[in-house]
Amino acid sequence: MKTQVLPIDEESLAEARRILLSGGCVAFPTETVYGLGADARSDSAVRTIYAVKGRPSDNPLIVHVHKEYDLDGLVFDTPFAKRLREVFLPGPLTLVYKSRGTVSSVVSCGLDTLAVRVPRHDGAQRFLRAVGIPVAAPSANRSKHVSPVTAEHVYTDLNGRIPLILDGGASEGGIESTVCDVTGEYPIILREGLVTREQIASVVGECGVWQGDQSAPVRSPGMKYKHYAPACETKLFPAAELEGAIACFGAEEKAGRRVLALCEHAACDSFPKGKALDLGDTAEMFAANLYRLLREAETRCDVLIAVEPRARGGAMAGVLNRLRKACGEGK
Ligand code: AMP
Ligand code: MG
Repeated sequence: MKTQVLPIDEESLAEARRILLSGGCVAFPTETVYGLGADARSDSAVRTIYAVKGRPSDNPLIVHVHKEYDLDGLVFDTPFAKRLREVFLPGPLTLVYKSRGTVSSVVSCGLDTLAVRVPRHDGAQRFLRAVGIPVAAPSANRSKHVSPVTAEHVYTDLNGRIPLILDGGASEGGIESTVCDVTGEYPIILREGLVTREQIASVVGECGVWQGDQSAPVRSPGMKYKHYAPACETKLFPAAELEGAIACFGAEEKAGRRVLALCEHAACDSFPKGKALDLGDTAEMFAANLYRLLREAETRCDVLIAVEPRARGGAMAGVLNRLRKACGEGK
């Protein structure tokens, strides 16, 4: 299959619509990462997403709709979910509702809940309005690889596997949406992201974070999977162990390996010139740069020495979750 990469205009949107309505997949930009979309109403279209990505079949997908779409046809609303929607949507927040069962059960892997997202990105809105249907979409990468934040990243992973990538430039958010369960008495964050626990609590008074301990039932099936890893070897150091990271960098270079560092701006000077990938100096910059730099690292080095940024609070929870998944835990 030939994979076209097209800018978003009337013609490419008409093509995207034709592909989706005939059961195919289209990659599209959002403000978090690129998505791989298919008709959420069709079992076979949704199964195609799993096949294209190599995604485990028990990891559910998020349904994407444009901002005028009536959610009442898809899910059962709650008063506090309505408040969260008014404040944060369109934007990088996914809400998990009780499902009305109107989309394919393959989307939710048979769960009685449905994850819904209304992206803010103008290209995503235009795409979702042009197709007019609920679009099931995970991130547009091969399963377990780093999520894509440019059309080129999608092409690297999915060239020959999908007919069309809509190119809307680099995703400015850079990490996947916050996933928040709204089926209970108060919201519970299942996956951290750029919309933070503090922000959600400030709107509805209370917000939990699912801790994922072994005895609790799995609330968000995707969280049990290894995710986001670059192809190079990675070694992650806490912020307080910069000296250890520098020593490790030296030892790896001495062993003849191609080494790069990944760290916040202030730590870049600790590594040889041109050998540090600069995450920036705020949580928002770390998020925006992380996946682009992980993908750069895997093309340029054998081993990546990553150092956690020092900042804590707010969006750092999501940033550290992704950095640790890519470079440390679960590997
Ligand atoms: P991604 O594949 O990167 O788009 O991630 C989608 C995330 O949403 C995964 O962590 C899923 O487990 C989670 N998710 C999707 N649908 C549901 C649902 N119905 N209940 C709980 N989590 C969900
Ligand atoms: Mg993903």
